[in-house]
Amino acid sequence: MIPYGKQDISQTDIDAVVEVLQSDWLTQGPMVPQFEQAVANKVGAQYAVAVNSATSALHIACLALGLESGDWLWTSPISFVASANCGLYCGAQVDFVDIDSKTYNLNVEALATKLEQAEKEGKLPKVLIPVHFSGQACDMAEIRLLSQKYGFSIIEDASHAIGGAYQNKPIGCNAYSDITIFSFHPVKILTTGEGGMALTNHDDLFLRMQAFRSHGITRDIGKMHGPSHGAWYYEQLDLGFNYRMTDIQAALGLSQLERLEQFVVKRRQLAGVYDEALSNLPLIRPYQSPDTCSAFHLYVVQVDASNSPASRNDLFAYLRQAGIGVNVHYIPIYRQPYYQQMNHYQTQHFIEAERYYANAITLPLHFGLQNEAQQMVVESLQKILQA
Ligand SMILES: *Cc1c(COP(=O)(O)O)cnc(C)c1O
Repeated sequence: MIPYGKQDISQTDIDAVVEVLQSDWLTQGPMVPQFEQAVANKVGAQYAVAVNSATSALHIACLALGLESGDWLWTSPISFVASANCGLYCGAQVDFVDIDSKTYNLNVEALATKLEQAEKEGKLPKVLIPVHFSGQACDMAEIRLLSQKYGFSIIEDASHAIGGAYQNKPIGCNAYSDITIFSFHPVKILTTGEGGMALTNHDDLFLRMQAFRSHGITRDIGKMHGPSHGAWYYEQLDLGFNYRMTDIQAALGLSQLERLEQFVVKRRQLAGVYDEALSNLPLIRPYQSPDTCSAFHLYVVQVDASNSPASRNDLFAYLRQAGIGVNVHYIPIYRQPYYQQMNHYQTQHFIEAERYYANAITLPLHFGLQNEAQQMVVESLQKILQA
């Protein structure tokens, strides 16, 4: 099976991990701050907090922004469930903004309309999580204007997008947001096995996220409520978690980061090959906004239902049978039974997300995808769609 996504591990990556295994530190030691500093420098952010997953990063980001019971969090329905679950972890309620029919990112006009309505009902969101779907940035400048007008905070879910850019600045620099999070799951652009990171330019958010990562405990005398009892002394000031990244993971991430540009260039090249090879087929190829440079975590096409001899479901079954590991990203989050039981989200509020979900299919795209394998994907698509 040709997988839709896959990590690429070099001998240098392996050597970096082995070196940590032979050192004195396994869990958070010297490699974690090195990795944090390296990612922060790379994307132009001031502070970074490495954690054990992007899911954890989203959680501590929401907590740092003060999200709690009685608040609302809004995000895109076409995302992984983690983009929404972080709101529920904090006791907040979650709602969704329909997507843009071209970029599949959260639609800014739909957001503006929904905000106007929410203001009347006194239900404005405290936090908005725009998701840079497939690696292409959302319209952040417009979203920032709306956040200033309505007073919500912004967490960019850039799980797909490290190495991408918006208005010629790296994603992660937080030019239009409070916090950006990255995922280092093996199918993403670069990996630490499991892992994530939250980046910010605000020192207060940075310190809060650091505390939530590790039990809400401080060893900083300046922050303690009472005098220190001795060198062993620490105080728990908040209810935090153990979301720490290990040094083993950080060493892998640091080594992988050396090849970030290479990873993204290759993904963009492969996307270009698909763009050209699929242009005669009844498929809608990924639109690219001129403001963005996508990291191409995913290459998603939509079956052009009015012209195609095969439906998305036919295509999916045929390709899987041919040994091609296509996938569908994502099932709209509001359709998940857990979300339906909580809140009867109506599909008619999400016309574009529904249309997208009916027709979308993710083709294999990853650093190690060989030309012959990609050619086989193209030929299989031609065979069924030119019939
Ligand atoms: C992968 C992903 C996450 C979660 O990442 P983990 O590191 O697996 O926790 C969150 N949001 C989006 C959009 C993702 O694709």
